[in-house]
Amino acid sequence: MNFLTLIEAKRDGQALSTEQIESLIAASAAGKIPDYQLAALLMAIFFRGLNRAETLAFTLAMRYSGEVLKFPDDERPLVDKHSTGGVGDKVSLLLAPLLACLGFRVPMISGRGLGITGGTLDKLESIPLLATTLPLEGIIAQVQKVGCVICGQSDHIVPADKALYALRDVTGTVPSIPLMTASILSKKLAEGIGALLLDVKFGSGAFMKTQEQAQELAQVMVDLGQECGVQTGALLTDMNTPLGLAAGNWLEVKEAAACLEGKGPKDLEELVLACAAHLLVQTGKAAPLEKARAQAAQCLASGKARQKWEEMLAAQGADLTDYHHKRALDHTANVVQELTAPRDGFVARCDAKLVGEVIRDLGAGRLTKESIINPDVGIDRLTKPGMAVRKGAILCRVHAADEAGAKQACSRLQTAFAFSDGPPGIPSLIRQVITPAST
Ligand code: URA
Repeated sequence: MNFLTLIEAKRDGQALSTEQIESLIAASAAGKIPDYQLAALLMAIFFRGLNRAETLAFTLAMRYSGEVLKFPDDERPLVDKHSTGGVGDKVSLLLAPLLACLGFRVPMISGRGLGITGGTLDKLESIPLLATTLPLEGIIAQVQKVGCVICGQSDHIVPADKALYALRDVTGTVPSIPLMTASILSKKLAEGIGALLLDVKFGSGAFMKTQEQAQELAQVMVDLGQECGVQTGALLTDMNTPLGLAAGNWLEVKEAAACLEGKGPKDLEELVLACAAHLLVQTGKAAPLEKARAQAAQCLASGKARQKWEEMLAAQGADLTDYHHKRALDHTANVVQELTAPRDGFVARCDAKLVGEVIRDLGAGRLTKESIINPDVGIDRLTKPGMAVRKGAILCRVHAADEAGAKQACSRLQTAFAFSDGPPGIPSLIRQVITPAST
């Protein structure tokens, strides 16, 4: 196949046939297309888009670029949740074990950080010895035994997404509705699940900047997921402010673990419980939503999900002694500096985009495919919009590899915050629920 012709066709706004898309995806999964041609094609798709038939073909070709998981029959429904990406979004880490405790099986295939948004795999890999690349049989055995797994695309599972995802991250081609749809749904369809909840984020720290764009993306994904036989729903959630009080790989693991112990930030807990409740309702395991939420809250408060989390970590090879030792430390990065409030008042804004850029530049994210992640850098003890502050109070702590990095991060972060004299209005976190167009 001549890929130059396909690049030119898409550049000129033509639709690609299913056969063309299938050979393209097969070749990219096999590493047979040079990065410069793939990058050009992705940019052409970014500007020209894919129609519905092309998006479906892209998604299915990516799903079948590797093996599709097949689980033994079991009364526990197979479900998953996927986020379109945000700053401080560690929901998956605690949701997977919580869902397992609620009687689901969760074969979660996640991704690494994309742009300024953190990735579940990068977060998990900050845990000593934990593996995220697992053999197919290992994934199935773990899900059957433990109830949940969080792993990544591999040479055997959605390899096409593994290749395209890494390239999109460093070529400015992430925020494309068809590319995001194909990337997310191919992974989820390869899991063999029956129900899926999507957390589609909008705002400064998300790929979709407005609620309208997020709604469009969510509706495309929900309808396509449904068409492919998966009960799919979506929440539209605000990502103008980081989620929780910490951002950065290890710091987020720590916060997720605290939330499993009932000591987490309220917004994180709210979103985790909402995701669990929606999946309980979607699968007919509970109704109405309020009752489902109470069931999820009771399960979280029981401490079972915390135990399940550690069971999952151990099953994936983590050294729990080292993990607990690391958790007990106040910080693991070389340098910690505090950013303080310049005045009395209320925090009116904490810009997720700027926070995401700063932590990426501290080393928590990638600028090129070769970038090496520093698991221990980031921010914590974040003061969120609505909180009252006194001049000199801590707005956040910066964890950095060296003094210069910490100083520069503090100086940039000053402009992430805005203040008001009175309490600001705080918009709700969960803004809309998206259901299939046909229901
Ligand atoms: N998450 C994914 O898995 N893929 C995307 O394209 C964006 C977010």
